Amino acid sequence: MKKKPRKIIILGDERLHEKSLPVEAYNGELEGLAEDMFRTLAAKKGLGLAAVQVGVLTRVFITQLSEDGQRVFVNPTIIETSEELVEIEEGCLSVPKMYERVNRPTRVRVQAFTLKGKPYTLEAGGLLARVIQHEIDHLDGILFIDRLDEAAKARIVKSFRSPGVLPSVPAGVRPI
Ligand code: ZN
Repeated sequence: MKKKPRKIIILGDERLHEKSLPVEAYNGELEGLAEDMFRTLAAKKGLGLAAVQVGVLTRVFITQLSEDGQRVFVNPTIIETSEELVEIEEGCLSVPKMYERVNRPTRVRVQAFTLKGKPYTLEAGGLLARVIQHEIDHLDGILFIDRLDEAAKARIVKSFRSPGVLPSVPAGVRPI
């Protein structure tokens, strides 16, 4: 039987504000989780997904950018960020249909482990750098709306809670 995508938890679920715990065992369960996450991400047409978004509080996230392919990050740490910042429109599968410009470093260097427990370092720029920072925030219980000023955050939370008053989705922007 074909496996189904997992359910994505959304704003209002307290788990989104919790810090995820490090992965300790590199086993079939971890590989199964990553597989399920890729299936879920593809179904939602997103660019990245953290384990917490499917209700699993471990430090794992995946990315899938058309120009970059599939990547898995286990126990990731950002070891360097560029001083240069860039403002990009961000959205999140856990805050559906809400988009806002967020300021973050242009480039990052990240250290992480593969599903087999092999360490690697990656330097990323562009959209991949953006997705990596957004996902590592998820592992620390931070949503992109937490990075906005109070007024912008309040505006998003309010429209999120008022069904029927959905804002328009910016063209070409995909949720992370
Ligand atoms: Zn997100």
